[in-house]
Amino acid sequence: MAYTYDDQNIFAKILRGEIPNDTVYESDHALAFRDISPAAPSHVLVIPKGPYVSMDHFTQEASDAELIGFMRAIGEVCRLEGVSEKGFRAIANTGEHGVQEVPHLHIHIIGGRPLGRMLSPAT
Ligand code: 5GP
Repeated sequence: MAYTYDDQNIFAKILRGEIPNDTVYESDHALAFRDISPAAPSHVLVIPKGPYVSMDHFTQEASDAELIGFMRAIGEVCRLEGVSEKGFRAIANTGEHGVQEVPHLHIHIIGGRPLGRMLSPAT
């Protein structure tokens, strides 16, 4: 599948500094900031700095340095947020079925309380 990146999406604007954000962590390859509508005491979005729509897009086209940098950033954020020990949920909502709202790859790191089961069994 070929991807077209919309550089007017809200996270692209955050990366360009056009919209403010509450930054938790930043590196050469990633930015992490608090979700504007937190689902738990800790809710951080980790995004690659490159123009990637989704995990599929990212894992096909990103360089090894970008891939490694992004994964390291996720680990750093979990430690900074203090959720590594008790646990957390890492979610990448993707595409139509995943109900992805913003078309720039982002991993939600959610924790700070028991989160319950991920999904109800299909009926
Ligand atoms: P998605 O549904 O695409 O996985 O998640 C998008 C997330 O981005 C949502 O949890 C939403 O609250 C968050 N979000 C949307 N707009 C903004 C914004 O302008 N700033 C921040 N920090 N988060 C946003």
